[in-house]
This record gives sequence, C-alpha cells and structure tokens, in this order.
Amino acid sequence: MITIKTAEEIELMRESALIVSKTLGMLAAEVKPGVTTLYLDKLAETFIRDHGAVPGFLGLYDFPNTLCMSPNAQVVHGIPNTNPLQEGDIISIDCGALKNGFYGDHAYTFEVGEVKPEVKKLLQITKESLYVGIREFRLGNRVGDVGYAIQKHCESHGYGVVRELVGHGLGKKMHEDPEMPNYGRRGHGKKFVEGMVVAIEPMINMGTHRIKQLRDGWTILTADGKPSAHFEHDVAIVNGKPELLSTFAYVYETLGITSDEEREFKKSALV
Ligand code: MG
Ligand code: MG
Repeated sequence: MITIKTAEEIELMRESALIVSKTLGMLAAEVKPGVTTLYLDKLAETFIRDHGAVPGFLGLYDFPNTLCMSPNAQVVHGIPNTNPLQEGDIISIDCGALKNGFYGDHAYTFEVGEVKPEVKKLLQITKESLYVGIREFRLGNRVGDVGYAIQKHCESHGYGVVRELVGHGLGKKMHEDPEMPNYGRRGHGKKFVEGMVVAIEPMINMGTHRIKQLRDGWTILTADGKPSAHFEHDVAIVNGKPELLSTFAYVYETLGITSDEEREFKKSALV
C-alpha cells in the first residue's frame, strides 16, 4: 500500500533527509586514504545524534552500524570495518536518519584521492542517471518510466543495472511501497500521485549487472569484481512535479564542486 504524505509530513521528511545530506557533507571532508570505514561510521553516528535524530540503519533488520560502506566492487550494504581506504578507491556511503517519526535515506559514492578516469566516468554516469530517473517521477507517470529512463541511460554506456536491489517508497518506514527498480518498461507499474515520497537509487556496475553476497549476510558485490556506484535522493511529488528533499549541496560545498544539477528539482520559491 502506497502511503501519501501531507504537506506537513513532507516538511518533516525534508528535515530528516537534510540531516543525512549534512552527514554526507561532513563525511566528504573525512574520506581520504588511510581512514577506516568504521571511523567514519562513528563520526556519522555522533553527528546524527547531535542533530536530534537517530541513525536509521542501526538495528534495522539487525544491521550492525550507522552507515552502509561499500568500497569498489561492493554494490551496497557493506559493513564498516577497520580496513583503511586506499588511494584510488571509491566508497559508496549510504546513510539513514530517523527524526519526528520519518526516515531520510540518501547515498553518495566518493572518490578516495585520485581515481582512474573510467571509474570517474562510472560515478558521473550513475549520478546523471539518478537525475534522469527523478525527472520521470511526476504526476501521471508510472514506476516503469523511472526505471526505463535510468536503465537506458546506464546501458547506453555499457554498464550493468543491478536487478535484485531497488529504490522504494519512504516515510514512517524505511522501505514502503512502491518498489522502484532501476530498470523497467515505459508506462508499466504503479501510477504516481501527488504526495508520494520515494528514494530513487541507481546501483550501477561497470561490468555485469550480476551480483553476489558475502557470507556476512549483508555485503552485496559485483559478480565480476568490477566497481559499482550508488547515488540516492529522497524525492516527493509536489504540484505534480518531483521535488528533492535531500541535497548533495553539502558534499559539493566540502569538495569545492559547483553544480546546478539539482536546480530544476528544488522547492519552488512560490507558495
Ligand atoms: Mg539508502
Ligand atoms: Mg534506499
């Protein structure tokens, strides 16, 4: 069942999403060679609690940490550990926060030092596909329209779109209906309506779309050992159009990146 959010609830969800955005912005300054993912996890937990929220993943389905930390060939759900990050790595950081009864859920793949051009391109195309998908999350469109757009964009570059893991509705639960696959057929699936809030999150592999799972019961990695990228935003349908609740602005501020990629999805200044 799809839960529709009121305008007031969407504002509460924006608050939760922005705590995650700020957490990622804080982490952006800390991601560098030699740092362990467990250290970053503890920083994030403290930061989230200091902002009056609770880590959204910690204890959810018995996940042991605040962040999902998935380097290189890990797709998602990696568990923080004491292995230091190395020059040339990428690290996908997925973070959740719960405040006022609503979840934020938001992810970014960071470069550790200087990464290879082909890996940079994987990150760029995956992030582009996120916005290509978000553009389709509008009144009258369907779940398949978002998935189709993301899949087309990524496969045109020869990348693999993970099938087994999908985006999702978001609200008082971390995972609500509908499921939001990153592949699909135009005009198929549930229809979008005003007040829906979803997490759109392409998980894109440089090589095969196939994945495997580690014996830890969590970590998902690419079947061919090639890198994988993951970017995620929380988006509401407001006035029929997609409106971002999360933002990469804090990450970009930290990294000194200028971008207008979010402009068309910002909350309208007109009330
Ligand atoms: Mg997430
Ligand atoms: Mg998610």
